[in-house]
Amino acid sequence: MLTNDQLSQWDRDSFLHPSTHLAQHARGEVQGRIIIGGEGCYITDRDGSRLLDAFAGLYCVNVGYGRTEIADAIAEQARELAYYHAYMGHGTEASVTLSKMVMDRAPDHMSKVYFGQGGSDANETNVKLVWYYNNIRGLPRKKKIISRWRAYHGSGLMSGSLTGLNLFHRKFDLPLDMVRHTTSPYYYRRDTREMSEPLFSAQCAADLEQLIDTEGADTIAAFIAEPMLGTGGIVPPPEGYWEAITPILEKHDILLIADEVITGFGRLGHMFASPAYGLTPDIMTIAKGLTSAYAPLSGSIVSEKVWKVLEQGTDENGPIGHGWTYSAHPIGAAAGVANLKLIDSLGLVENAATVGPYLTAQMQAALGDHAHVGDIRGEGMLTAVELIADRDSRTYFDPDRKITPQIVAAMGRRGVIARAMPQGDIIGFAPPLCLTREEADTVITATTEAVAEVLG
Ligand code: PMP
Repeated sequence: MLTNDQLSQWDRDSFLHPSTHLAQHARGEVQGRIIIGGEGCYITDRDGSRLLDAFAGLYCVNVGYGRTEIADAIAEQARELAYYHAYMGHGTEASVTLSKMVMDRAPDHMSKVYFGQGGSDANETNVKLVWYYNNIRGLPRKKKIISRWRAYHGSGLMSGSLTGLNLFHRKFDLPLDMVRHTTSPYYYRRDTREMSEPLFSAQCAADLEQLIDTEGADTIAAFIAEPMLGTGGIVPPPEGYWEAITPILEKHDILLIADEVITGFGRLGHMFASPAYGLTPDIMTIAKGLTSAYAPLSGSIVSEKVWKVLEQGTDENGPIGHGWTYSAHPIGAAAGVANLKLIDSLGLVENAATVGPYLTAQMQAALGDHAHVGDIRGEGMLTAVELIADRDSRTYFDPDRKITPQIVAAMGRRGVIARAMPQGDIIGFAPPLCLTREEADTVITATTEAVAEVLG
């Protein structure tokens, strides 16, 4: 067996890690863990530490670790048929079955699902489908996509452009030309603190309408949004937000792409978040919870309205000129089928709807009065604790103090993994949907102690 020293040497010498400080990693200053196993909500590292993963990997291991039902389905698929493509109407039993299972769960007005590998490429597909759609409709100028600041939609060329976090643009020459960003529905730090949530929502809608007017509605194809903001800070939509936004999109013939990569398959205590927020998206992005990350797989679900137009386009022009070698990969599809069955049989959507709010409420009870805790918010199994230097003036801590990374490290020493969100001092929680109340209590104790250790 390799020694830990040997592994970390190889790691430093050969591995260009995603979302990692490259220079610090090469100098051996980044303390990444090497994980060797997982069971339920817990993972084990090479040093033998057992950690409660309160972020489910990257909000993706929805059914929890170590599910043999999914492992067996993957192994069986690999033995029988590891690969065949989905071009020219081909498929496998697994990919056809999964498409049926996804569409049975999707809102009624949705029609078909295209499968990709991850959330980023699914959003690349979505933008191409939107462009194709408007070309077929004879609207070649209607191509820009509006996203929101603080959004996360991936880190490809287009998906990274749609993302509204500076870190993902800086030094990459992004965002691309066809993308605009509008006001983020991040209400805790809204400029006017006295502004009520409905008023702030009306402001967001007015900003969107202003942007559409400035650009010209005939140049705007789609609006993309996470039903609830994820990586940008775990922010439920403020009161009245979606009610104010959707009529503007309808009025200007702008498609709605709901990015449900995090929220899909139960995380908010509903199979999908869109219907829960009264949204009827034209396209939905899915990934993460589709397979609980047991294999990479994503999807773009298109509505009947979009499908009808896409269909016309291929009648005139031949096959759609879009597809990946690994679209609907059988191993991913087999994992997806087994995963969706488990979500149902274990009642995980219902568990997210009860244990998730318990986690948020208990976190509020434990930390809500702390002088440096500004906001505790959440929905379903998605919770955030936002730290603040001064509660009254809502002044942030100096980012150089790295308050949240310190707290998250202190939680790690107590055996609990949370995430320091990339922008602002926000501790994020997105546990597997099978979290129990006892496990939620463990998360809260570790958080409370770590906050006290770092901030008093
Ligand atoms: N959309 C959303 C809402 C996401 O949270 C993510 C990933 N965190 C993505 C897209 C990109 O997915 P991937 O990392 O699988 O490309």
